[in-house]
Amino acid sequence: MIYLDHAATTPVDSAVLDEMLPYFREAYGNPSSLHSAGQEAKFALDNARDRVAALLHARPSEIIFTSGGTEADNLALRGVAGQAPPDRRRLIVSSVEHEAILETAAALEAQGWVVARLPVDDQGIVHPESLRDAMRRGTALVSVMAANNEVGAMQPIAELAQIAHAGGALFHTDAVQAVGAMDVSPSAWGVDLLSLSGHKIYGPKGIGALWVRGGLRVAPQVTGGGQERERRSGTENVPAIVGLGKACELAGERIAAGEPERLRQLRDILIRGVLETVPAAILTGHPTERLPNHASFCFPGVEGEPILLNLDFAGIAASSGSACSTGAIEPSHVLLAMGFAREIANGALRLTLGRANTEDDVAAVLAVLPGIVNRLRSLG
Ligand code: PLP
Repeated sequence: MIYLDHAATTPVDSAVLDEMLPYFREAYGNPSSLHSAGQEAKFALDNARDRVAALLHARPSEIIFTSGGTEADNLALRGVAGQAPPDRRRLIVSSVEHEAILETAAALEAQGWVVARLPVDDQGIVHPESLRDAMRRGTALVSVMAANNEVGAMQPIAELAQIAHAGGALFHTDAVQAVGAMDVSPSAWGVDLLSLSGHKIYGPKGIGALWVRGGLRVAPQVTGGGQERERRSGTENVPAIVGLGKACELAGERIAAGEPERLRQLRDILIRGVLETVPAAILTGHPTERLPNHASFCFPGVEGEPILLNLDFAGIAASSGSACSTGAIEPSHVLLAMGFAREIANGALRLTLGRANTEDDVAAVLAVLPGIVNRLRSLG
């Protein structure tokens, strides 16, 4: 199989798995226990926290481990909301956020919060002016993702954070797709909270973290034994946290060794090849302000699902970028927000590259994709 769905999830790196296994088998102590088995687990937790912080150029005390990107996003929004005084119950999100943000914003709206949703342009970019226009007194938080999972568009986070702060609001970014793909520093961006996820960076599923700027308080959403310095209770998932730590260390090494540039070159060969060989293909997202590993397209006149099935048959794992809920394929809210008509948004394809991919993989896609799209079009 040629795996081109790294935005959905990545394989666990074997070095990550190797570091995790002892924490299932031998070193299974509870990090809160005082005996040496517990202290060994506590040491592993501290070491993982150091590694996550190092990838973000941050302090270990600023990392809260969560069950993934979704929980980190929930903790950011609900944690800030839980601290906000009654006259500051206003939230701004972009219209292309992941459901973890959009659904959480909608839940807060149902509790009386005022939620503003920022538009994007036809390349998926949030314009700073639109945030400036949306800022009002009483805005507690602005949340805009660093990079979009469906179209790869990267947002001007530093500028947006500055506008939020000038208006007296905090700024959160969902960096689940950006962390590991490029060098990310929340303090260089000037944000207050940042979410990341293990399984997008060759770590295990079900683990993530929220970075919270030192000194900022978030109201805990999971209460109990007071783990994570009272910010997220529950006995820590030690093997997964160890895995996340190792994945962060490897991601930092890969970035330093030039992996983003290697992927960017492969991505551009793929994008150019698709646009040249598939008639009427449309690149979705921004041509340059996009994740280095991310290529996404619409093919007018065809649906995304049969393209995926045909690619799968040819041994290529891809994604449509549209969410499948309650059995019906709905066009992506991201593509609709970018102004695509429903019929066009239905023909979406996302190809996301990773560590193991080579130019041969790109050539294999280009060898079959034009034929698949042409055949489906001729079938009407
Ligand atoms: N945010 C973005 C942008 C994502 O792409 C994802 C995963 O698809 C998430 C949040 C959720 O992360 P997790 O799967 O770790 O809950």
